[in-house]
Amino acid sequence: MGWKRLGLMLAGWFGVMGIWTMTSLAEAAVPVLAVGSQGSAVASLQQDLDSLGYAAGAVDGVFGPQTLAAVEQFQRDQQLAVDGVVGPATWQALATASGQNIPNSNEGPGSQDDSRTGFVNLWTHEPPLADDGQNVVLTFDDGPSPWTADLIRTLQQEGVPAVFFWNTYHIQYANDEVKQLLSDDSDIQVGDHTVDHPDLIHLGYDQQYAEIADAKRLIEQTTGQPVRFFRPPYGDYNATTEHILHDLGLTGVMWDVDTLDWKYNDHEQPILDTIRREVHPGSIILMHDHPYTIRFLPDIIAELRQLGYGFTTLTVPQAHAALVDPPPGRVRYI
Ligand SMILES: [Zn+2]
Repeated sequence: MGWKRLGLMLAGWFGVMGIWTMTSLAEAAVPVLAVGSQGSAVASLQQDLDSLGYAAGAVDGVFGPQTLAAVEQFQRDQQLAVDGVVGPATWQALATASGQNIPNSNEGPGSQDDSRTGFVNLWTHEPPLADDGQNVVLTFDDGPSPWTADLIRTLQQEGVPAVFFWNTYHIQYANDEVKQLLSDDSDIQVGDHTVDHPDLIHLGYDQQYAEIADAKRLIEQTTGQPVRFFRPPYGDYNATTEHILHDLGLTGVMWDVDTLDWKYNDHEQPILDTIRREVHPGSIILMHDHPYTIRFLPDIIAELRQLGYGFTTLTVPQAHAALVDPPPGRVRYI
Protein backbone atom coordinates (compact mmCIF):
# COMPACT_ATOMS: atom_id res chain seq x y z
CA MET A 1 0.00 0.00 0.00
CA GLY A 2 3.05 2.27 0.06
CA TRP A 3 2.38 3.64 -3.39
CA LYS A 4 -1.13 4.52 -2.40
CA ARG A 5 0.07 6.48 0.57
CA LEU A 6 2.39 8.23 -1.84
CA GLY A 7 -0.63 9.01 -3.98
CA LEU A 8 -2.37 10.58 -1.01
CA MET A 9 0.74 12.56 -0.15
CA LEU A 10 0.91 13.83 -3.70
CA ALA A 11 -2.75 14.69 -3.50
CA GLY A 12 -1.92 16.89 -0.54
CA TRP A 13 0.26 19.00 -2.81
CA PHE A 14 -2.80 20.04 -4.69
CA GLY A 15 -4.18 21.62 -1.55
CA VAL A 16 -7.39 23.39 -2.39
CA MET A 17 -8.18 21.01 -5.21
CA GLY A 18 -9.21 18.80 -2.31
CA ILE A 19 -11.32 15.78 -2.87
CA TRP A 20 -11.60 16.16 -6.63
CA THR A 21 -7.92 15.74 -7.12
CA MET A 22 -7.48 13.21 -4.41
CA THR A 23 -10.03 10.79 -5.73
CA SER A 24 -8.88 10.93 -9.29
CA LEU A 25 -5.22 10.93 -8.40
CA ALA A 26 -5.52 7.68 -6.52
CA GLU A 27 -7.72 6.22 -9.20
CA ALA A 28 -5.22 6.66 -11.95
CA ALA A 29 -2.24 5.75 -9.81
CA VAL A 30 0.05 3.11 -11.18
CA PRO A 31 2.68 2.37 -8.56
CA VAL A 32 5.74 4.31 -9.70
CA LEU A 33 8.70 2.87 -7.86
CA ALA A 34 12.30 3.96 -7.46
CA VAL A 35 15.13 3.66 -4.96
CA GLY A 36 13.67 4.27 -1.52
CA SER A 37 10.19 2.98 -2.35
CA GLN A 38 8.77 0.47 0.09
CA GLY A 39 5.74 -1.73 0.36
CA SER A 40 3.78 -4.46 -1.30
CA ALA A 41 4.23 -3.12 -4.82
CA VAL A 42 8.01 -3.28 -4.34
CA ALA A 43 7.70 -6.85 -3.06
CA SER A 44 5.65 -7.71 -6.11
CA LEU A 45 8.28 -6.12 -8.33
CA GLN A 46 11.05 -8.08 -6.61
CA GLN A 47 9.09 -11.28 -7.00
CA ASP A 48 8.51 -10.66 -10.72
CA LEU A 49 12.17 -9.84 -11.28
CA ASP A 50 13.28 -12.96 -9.39
CA SER A 51 10.91 -15.16 -11.36
CA LEU A 52 12.39 -13.76 -14.56
CA GLY A 53 15.94 -14.51 -13.42
CA TYR A 54 16.95 -11.00 -12.34
CA ALA A 55 18.56 -11.01 -8.90
CA ALA A 56 16.62 -8.34 -7.05
CA GLY A 57 17.72 -9.49 -3.61
CA ALA A 58 15.40 -10.55 -0.81
CA VAL A 59 11.70 -10.07 -1.43
CA ASP A 60 11.50 -7.57 1.42
CA GLY A 61 9.48 -4.75 -0.13
CA VAL A 62 12.40 -2.33 0.03
CA PHE A 63 13.75 -0.86 -3.20
CA GLY A 64 17.49 -0.83 -2.57
CA PRO A 65 20.64 -0.97 -4.72
CA GLN A 66 20.21 -4.62 -5.67
CA THR A 67 16.64 -4.09 -6.80
CA LEU A 68 17.81 -1.06 -8.75
CA ALA A 69 20.50 -3.11 -10.53
CA ALA A 70 17.91 -5.76 -11.44
CA VAL A 71 15.46 -3.14 -12.70
CA GLU A 72 18.12 -1.48 -14.83
CA GLN A 73 19.20 -4.81 -16.30
CA PHE A 74 15.59 -5.70 -17.07
CA GLN A 75 15.03 -2.30 -18.71
CA ARG A 76 18.19 -2.77 -20.77
CA ASP A 77 17.09 -6.21 -21.93
CA GLN A 78 13.63 -4.90 -22.77
CA GLN A 79 15.09 -1.91 -24.65
CA LEU A 80 13.29 0.47 -22.34
CA ALA A 81 14.70 3.72 -21.06
CA VAL A 82 17.25 2.60 -18.44
CA ASP A 83 16.35 4.97 -15.63
CA GLY A 84 15.82 2.55 -12.76
CA VAL A 85 12.31 3.92 -12.28
CA VAL A 86 9.46 1.44 -12.51
CA GLY A 87 6.63 3.31 -14.19
CA PRO A 88 3.89 2.24 -16.59
CA ALA A 89 6.20 1.08 -19.40
CA THR A 90 8.32 -1.09 -17.11
CA TRP A 91 5.27 -2.54 -15.34
CA GLN A 92 3.78 -3.35 -18.71
CA ALA A 93 6.95 -5.11 -19.83
CA LEU A 94 7.16 -7.03 -16.54
CA ALA A 95 3.53 -8.06 -16.82
CA THR A 96 4.02 -9.26 -20.35
CA ALA A 97 7.23 -11.11 -19.50
CA SER A 98 5.96 -12.72 -16.31
CA GLY A 99 2.31 -13.21 -17.17
CA GLN A 100 1.41 -11.35 -13.96
CA ASN A 101 -0.87 -8.38 -13.60
CA ILE A 102 0.37 -4.96 -12.69
CA PRO A 103 0.04 -4.76 -8.92
CA ASN A 104 -2.50 -2.38 -7.54
CA SER A 105 -4.36 -2.30 -4.29
CA ASN A 106 -5.99 -5.65 -5.04
CA GLU A 107 -4.49 -7.63 -2.22
CA GLY A 108 -5.76 -10.44 -0.09
CA PRO A 109 -9.20 -11.97 -0.32
CA GLY A 110 -11.34 -10.79 -3.16
CA SER A 111 -8.32 -9.97 -5.25
CA GLN A 112 -8.00 -9.36 -8.94
CA ASP A 113 -7.45 -13.06 -9.56
CA ASP A 114 -10.85 -14.16 -8.40
CA SER A 115 -12.40 -11.23 -10.25
CA ARG A 116 -11.43 -13.11 -13.39
CA THR A 117 -14.17 -15.60 -12.73
CA GLY A 118 -17.88 -15.18 -13.12
CA PHE A 119 -18.97 -12.09 -14.96
CA VAL A 120 -15.74 -11.04 -16.56
CA ASN A 121 -17.45 -10.49 -19.88
CA LEU A 122 -19.32 -7.61 -18.28
CA TRP A 123 -16.17 -5.50 -18.41
CA THR A 124 -14.85 -3.48 -21.26
CA HIS A 125 -11.18 -2.91 -20.95
CA GLU A 126 -9.51 -4.32 -24.01
CA PRO A 127 -9.60 -2.41 -27.26
CA PRO A 128 -10.74 -2.63 -29.88
CA LEU A 129 -14.45 -2.76 -29.29
CA ALA A 130 -16.34 -5.01 -31.62
CA ASP A 131 -17.91 -2.88 -34.27
CA ASP A 132 -17.17 0.77 -33.89
CA GLY A 133 -14.72 1.33 -36.72
CA GLN A 134 -12.56 4.37 -36.14
CA ASN A 135 -14.52 5.65 -33.18
CA VAL A 136 -13.50 6.20 -29.59
CA VAL A 137 -15.49 6.81 -26.41
CA LEU A 138 -14.76 9.77 -24.12
CA THR A 139 -15.45 9.16 -20.43
CA PHE A 140 -15.36 11.64 -17.53
CA ASP A 141 -15.13 10.40 -13.94
CA ASP A 142 -15.78 11.83 -10.48
CA GLY A 143 -18.47 14.37 -11.32
CA PRO A 144 -20.87 15.98 -11.06
CA SER A 145 -18.90 19.12 -10.32
CA PRO A 146 -19.29 22.89 -10.57
CA TRP A 147 -17.94 22.53 -14.13
CA THR A 148 -20.23 19.78 -15.39
CA ALA A 149 -22.60 22.10 -17.25
CA ASP A 150 -19.69 23.72 -19.12
CA LEU A 151 -18.36 20.31 -19.99
CA ILE A 152 -21.66 19.13 -21.41
CA ARG A 153 -22.09 22.36 -23.38
CA THR A 154 -18.65 21.93 -24.95
CA LEU A 155 -19.45 18.35 -25.90
CA GLN A 156 -22.75 19.45 -27.41
CA GLN A 157 -21.14 22.27 -29.37
CA GLU A 158 -18.64 19.80 -30.76
CA GLY A 159 -21.32 17.21 -31.45
CA VAL A 160 -19.43 14.64 -29.37
CA PRO A 161 -21.15 11.96 -27.26
CA ALA A 162 -19.64 11.00 -23.91
CA VAL A 163 -20.17 8.92 -20.79
CA PHE A 164 -19.91 10.41 -17.30
CA PHE A 165 -19.33 8.31 -14.19
CA TRP A 166 -20.69 10.09 -11.14
CA ASN A 167 -20.19 9.83 -7.40
CA THR A 168 -23.46 10.74 -5.79
CA TYR A 169 -22.06 12.16 -2.53
CA HIS A 170 -21.90 15.41 -4.45
CA ILE A 171 -25.00 14.91 -6.55
CA GLN A 172 -26.05 18.46 -5.61
CA TYR A 173 -23.81 19.72 -8.42
CA ALA A 174 -26.23 18.12 -10.85
CA ASN A 175 -28.33 21.27 -10.69
CA ASP A 176 -31.28 22.24 -12.85
CA GLU A 177 -28.98 23.46 -15.60
CA VAL A 178 -27.17 20.13 -15.75
CA LYS A 179 -30.46 18.26 -15.68
CA GLN A 180 -31.80 20.39 -18.52
CA LEU A 181 -28.68 19.84 -20.64
CA LEU A 182 -28.86 16.09 -20.06
CA SER A 183 -32.53 15.84 -20.85
CA ASP A 184 -31.90 17.44 -24.22
CA ASP A 185 -29.16 15.04 -25.21
CA SER A 186 -29.35 11.26 -25.39
CA ASP A 187 -25.70 11.12 -26.47
CA ILE A 188 -24.55 12.09 -23.00
CA GLN A 189 -24.90 9.13 -20.67
CA VAL A 190 -24.34 9.07 -16.94
CA GLY A 191 -22.95 5.95 -15.33
CA ASP A 192 -22.46 4.86 -11.72
CA HIS A 193 -19.12 5.44 -9.95
CA THR A 194 -20.48 4.61 -6.43
CA VAL A 195 -21.72 6.98 -3.74
CA ASP A 196 -18.45 7.73 -1.91
CA HIS A 197 -15.65 6.57 -4.22
CA PRO A 198 -14.44 3.77 -1.92
CA ASP A 199 -12.02 1.02 -2.85
CA LEU A 200 -14.67 -1.68 -3.26
CA ILE A 201 -12.41 -4.65 -2.69
CA HIS A 202 -12.12 -3.72 0.97
CA LEU A 203 -15.90 -3.79 1.41
CA GLY A 204 -18.23 -6.71 2.01
CA TYR A 205 -21.26 -7.52 -0.08
CA ASP A 206 -23.74 -5.29 1.77
CA GLN A 207 -21.51 -2.24 1.70
CA GLN A 208 -20.60 -2.73 -1.96
CA TYR A 209 -24.25 -3.21 -2.81
CA ALA A 210 -25.24 -0.01 -1.03
CA GLU A 211 -22.47 2.00 -2.73
CA ILE A 212 -23.45 0.81 -6.20
CA ALA A 213 -27.24 0.51 -5.89
CA ASP A 214 -27.75 3.80 -4.01
CA ALA A 215 -25.71 5.71 -6.57
CA LYS A 216 -27.60 4.08 -9.42
CA ARG A 217 -30.95 5.00 -7.91
CA LEU A 218 -29.95 8.59 -7.18
CA ILE A 219 -28.50 9.16 -10.65
CA GLU A 220 -31.64 7.75 -12.22
CA GLN A 221 -33.82 10.00 -10.06
CA THR A 222 -31.68 12.99 -11.03
CA THR A 223 -31.34 12.45 -14.76
CA GLY A 224 -34.55 10.55 -15.47
CA GLN A 225 -32.48 8.13 -17.54
CA PRO A 226 -31.67 4.50 -16.74
CA VAL A 227 -28.11 3.85 -15.59
CA ARG A 228 -26.53 1.01 -17.54
CA PHE A 229 -22.82 1.36 -16.86
CA PHE A 230 -20.58 1.21 -13.84
CA ARG A 231 -16.94 2.11 -13.37
CA PRO A 232 -15.26 1.04 -10.14
CA PRO A 233 -13.25 3.66 -8.25
CA TYR A 234 -9.50 3.07 -8.69
CA GLY A 235 -10.38 0.40 -11.25
CA ASP A 236 -10.66 -2.04 -8.32
CA TYR A 237 -13.30 -4.72 -8.26
CA ASN A 238 -13.72 -8.35 -7.28
CA ALA A 239 -16.14 -11.22 -7.76
CA THR A 240 -18.56 -9.65 -5.28
CA THR A 241 -18.68 -6.50 -7.38
CA GLU A 242 -19.40 -8.54 -10.47
CA HIS A 243 -22.27 -10.39 -8.82
CA ILE A 244 -23.78 -7.09 -7.75
CA LEU A 245 -23.43 -5.62 -11.23
CA HIS A 246 -25.09 -8.67 -12.66
CA ASP A 247 -27.96 -8.39 -10.18
CA LEU A 248 -28.42 -4.69 -10.91
CA GLY A 249 -28.15 -5.11 -14.68
CA LEU A 250 -25.07 -2.93 -14.87
CA THR A 251 -22.19 -3.33 -17.28
CA GLY A 252 -18.71 -2.62 -15.98
CA VAL A 253 -16.58 -0.26 -18.01
CA MET A 254 -12.84 0.17 -17.65
CA TRP A 255 -10.59 2.17 -19.97
CA ASP A 256 -7.53 1.67 -22.10
CA VAL A 257 -6.29 5.24 -22.56
CA ASP A 258 -5.52 7.06 -19.32
CA THR A 259 -4.95 10.71 -20.14
CA LEU A 260 -3.54 11.35 -16.63
CA ASP A 261 -5.40 14.65 -16.77
CA TRP A 262 -5.50 14.65 -12.95
CA LYS A 263 -1.71 14.70 -12.94
CA TYR A 264 -0.93 17.14 -15.71
CA ASN A 265 -3.55 19.61 -14.55
CA ASP A 266 -2.81 22.82 -16.47
CA HIS A 267 -0.34 21.20 -18.88
CA GLU A 268 -2.16 20.36 -22.04
CA GLN A 269 0.63 18.94 -24.17
CA PRO A 270 1.32 15.75 -22.16
CA ILE A 271 -2.39 14.93 -22.26
CA LEU A 272 -2.44 15.28 -26.05
CA ASP A 273 0.80 13.29 -26.29
CA THR A 274 -0.65 10.46 -24.20
CA ILE A 275 -3.74 10.30 -26.36
CA ARG A 276 -1.73 10.33 -29.58
CA ARG A 277 0.50 7.53 -28.30
CA GLU A 278 -2.14 5.22 -26.84
CA VAL A 279 -5.36 5.64 -28.78
CA HIS A 280 -6.73 2.82 -30.91
CA PRO A 281 -10.00 2.31 -32.76
CA GLY A 282 -12.54 1.52 -30.06
CA SER A 283 -10.52 3.05 -27.25
CA ILE A 284 -12.26 4.12 -24.07
CA ILE A 285 -10.52 7.30 -22.95
CA LEU A 286 -10.42 8.18 -19.24
CA MET A 287 -10.64 11.82 -18.24
CA HIS A 288 -12.08 13.66 -15.27
CA ASP A 289 -14.70 16.28 -14.59
CA HIS A 290 -12.04 18.87 -13.79
CA PRO A 291 -11.73 22.51 -14.84
CA TYR A 292 -8.48 22.06 -16.77
CA THR A 293 -9.78 19.07 -18.67
CA ILE A 294 -12.79 21.11 -19.69
CA ARG A 295 -10.56 23.92 -20.95
CA PHE A 296 -8.51 21.48 -23.00
CA LEU A 297 -11.44 19.51 -24.33
CA PRO A 298 -11.79 21.34 -27.67
CA ASP A 299 -8.10 20.67 -28.39
CA ILE A 300 -8.42 17.03 -27.31
CA ILE A 301 -11.37 16.57 -29.65
CA ALA A 302 -9.54 18.34 -32.48
CA GLU A 303 -6.47 16.15 -31.94
CA LEU A 304 -8.53 12.95 -32.12
CA ARG A 305 -10.31 14.16 -35.24
CA GLN A 306 -7.00 14.99 -36.84
CA LEU A 307 -5.87 11.43 -36.10
CA GLY A 308 -8.91 10.23 -38.02
CA TYR A 309 -11.14 9.28 -35.10
CA GLY A 310 -14.81 9.87 -34.62
CA PHE A 311 -16.76 9.60 -31.39
CA THR A 312 -19.32 7.13 -30.20
CA THR A 313 -20.95 6.14 -26.96
CA LEU A 314 -21.30 2.84 -25.16
CA THR A 315 -24.01 0.34 -25.84
CA VAL A 316 -24.57 -2.77 -23.77
CA PRO A 317 -23.99 -5.33 -26.56
CA GLN A 318 -20.85 -3.47 -27.56
CA ALA A 319 -19.60 -3.49 -24.00
CA HIS A 320 -20.36 -7.17 -23.58
CA ALA A 321 -18.55 -8.08 -26.76
CA ALA A 322 -15.39 -6.34 -25.77
CA LEU A 323 -13.92 -8.93 -23.49
CA VAL A 324 -14.76 -12.56 -23.05
CA ASP A 325 -11.44 -14.24 -22.52
CA PRO A 326 -8.37 -12.04 -22.21
CA PRO A 327 -5.24 -13.52 -23.73
CA PRO A 328 -2.60 -14.53 -21.16
CA GLY A 329 -0.20 -11.82 -20.15
CA ARG A 330 -2.50 -8.96 -21.06
CA VAL A 331 -2.92 -6.44 -18.31
CA ARG A 332 -5.68 -4.13 -17.41
CA TYR A 333 -4.88 -0.54 -16.72
CA ILE A 334 -5.58 0.70 -13.24
ZN1 LIG B 1 -13.00 8.08 -9.76
